[in-house]
Amino acid sequence: MTVVLSDITSFRKDFPIFQAENKGKPFVYLDTANSAQKPKQVVDAMSDFALHAYANIHRGVYTHSSDASQKYEAVREQVRQFIHAASVEEIIFTSGTTESINLVAACMGGAHWQAGDEVILSEMEHHANIVPWFFLKEKIGVVLKVVPITGSGELNMEAYRELFTSRTKMVAVTHASNVLGTVNPIKEIVAIAHQHGALVLVDGAQAVSHKKVDVQALGCDFYAFSAHKLYGPTGVGVLYAKRQYLEKMPPYQGGGSMIESVSFSKITYAKGPQKFEAGTRNIIGVIGLSAAISYMQSIGISHIADYEDHLLQQLEHKLRLVPGVKIIGNPKSKVSVLSFVCEGMHPHDIGTVLDHEGVAVRVGHHCAMPLMERLQVPATVRVSLGLYNTKEDIDALITGLWVAKRILG
Ligand code: PMP
Repeated sequence: MTVVLSDITSFRKDFPIFQAENKGKPFVYLDTANSAQKPKQVVDAMSDFALHAYANIHRGVYTHSSDASQKYEAVREQVRQFIHAASVEEIIFTSGTTESINLVAACMGGAHWQAGDEVILSEMEHHANIVPWFFLKEKIGVVLKVVPITGSGELNMEAYRELFTSRTKMVAVTHASNVLGTVNPIKEIVAIAHQHGALVLVDGAQAVSHKKVDVQALGCDFYAFSAHKLYGPTGVGVLYAKRQYLEKMPPYQGGGSMIESVSFSKITYAKGPQKFEAGTRNIIGVIGLSAAISYMQSIGISHIADYEDHLLQQLEHKLRLVPGVKIIGNPKSKVSVLSFVCEGMHPHDIGTVLDHEGVAVRVGHHCAMPLMERLQVPATVRVSLGLYNTKEDIDALITGLWVAKRILG
């Protein structure tokens, strides 16, 4: 099916949440970067599976269990294709981006690095891509180095090049900023890191729902994302890891399903992704992830991106006409995420007034406190767009901002 730009709003009907009013007005949801709303197709797939096909996986010899195992493993192949990994063995199901990054920090860094080894992060990282590395600083004396951003909200690539030493083990960087929307030049970042013998972990939480991701083309060693930002369920996500590192990393957690054999004197571990999937997994969530990927692909990720980009331009244009509004950053390449501040009004107050107007935006530090410090703001208002947003949503935001100015200004 080919979808043209104007058609895309027809997909809004797949999201029942928009059928109900919010404060007597249409629900205007501009917080997709936080978590995307769920289409009926995703919830139906999960409920069909839970009601009619459910059994635990990798355990039973009975048909329901082996069918459920096959469905679960088929999603691994679907995810492999979705991000174009070389092998299905490189796809680990986790609880989300946060767990994926913690896993790599603990199993690569925690197991193999020494005091004085270095990790390069950037000023625009989400706390999920800072704290797990900070644990290693506290635990084993790993040194954290930080790529600064430019005035336009992009990584300072000159400064990035200067940060490498013979002790650099890892570059952990976001694909797209959850505050500025900036899309980082991952291929270039990877090429430079690999020249210095360092690995690269990419936090893909904000990128996968807006961009076609090809981990082989990017060249990264690890890629992490969450289903809930992809119109899928909460509590499930993915870690892509190049096979050679899966072999090198010890298990993350111990329990059922991740072993080959257990005795009180010796334990051998399962091979491949199973080694990192201890205990009963979020099987229903994985089925939901599958439905979410299929849903997005049925519309076309590039169509969604084009549509969002078109809305983003309207949003920027209309915001610039509101006196006192300052849009933060002006990166050349960005996803549909935008932060702003408005003279004389605290972002939290703006958020509260907008809520009264039926408009949901995120206000605060967005789990990126070091970035707030760099920008010298305590908080921002963040607007993020999804495939269900319309130009009427943007108009409602602008109307709400004028109300905020009248009340607070
Ligand atoms: N990284 C980025 C860039 C994010 O935006 C988020 C979610 N706000 C995360 C990591 C963490 O994702 P999750 O909470 O789904 O683990």
